[in-house]
Amino acid sequence: MKKQTLPKLPYSYQELEPAISARIMKLHHDKHHAGYVKKANAALKQLQTEQPNYKQVLKDLSFNLNGHILHSVFWQNMRAYQQNNAPTPTVKKQLAKSFGSFANFKQSFNKTATSVEGSGWGALLKSPTGELQLMQLENHNKLFLNNFSLVLVVDVWEHAYYLDYENNRGQYLQNWWQVVNWDDVAKRLAD
Ligand code: MN
Repeated sequence: MKKQTLPKLPYSYQELEPAISARIMKLHHDKHHAGYVKKANAALKQLQTEQPNYKQVLKDLSFNLNGHILHSVFWQNMRAYQQNNAPTPTVKKQLAKSFGSFANFKQSFNKTATSVEGSGWGALLKSPTGELQLMQLENHNKLFLNNFSLVLVVDVWEHAYYLDYENNRGQYLQNWWQVVNWDDVAKRLAD
């Protein structure tokens, strides 16, 4: 695998306000995500040495490379804050087909993400046969999701919201819907 690079944010740090502050975005992207990229590259480099410590390399990649992948999707899953942010009619229909209604989907997604124990992610995934499924990802683990694709993910590590919301993860998630990039979700559903 080639050297990984930190992707640029598709918006400025402050454009997600008031759902997510510029301060959080800057720290989250420039420090946390950059750190995962750096450590993933160190692990990939270790693989090219004469006697790699495979156990350590796999552990490092599982955490840091997956962290890099998840954050890269997370940034694209968001866009500038909109008061009346809503899914496209096609997406709404697709979600309603799998979850009964769009309101049900939103409620289930929130429940999934709110109840992650400790650090992790809430995720909407698409199975190889096209079924949509909600899942919790502990830390950054997604190695077990072979052939499932990420459609919509939300970071519920404390670093993603604590500076703005303290321990109120539920409020963070409620406001987060105003920055969901439904055009990106539509693209991932169609892929
Ligand atoms: Mn994060």
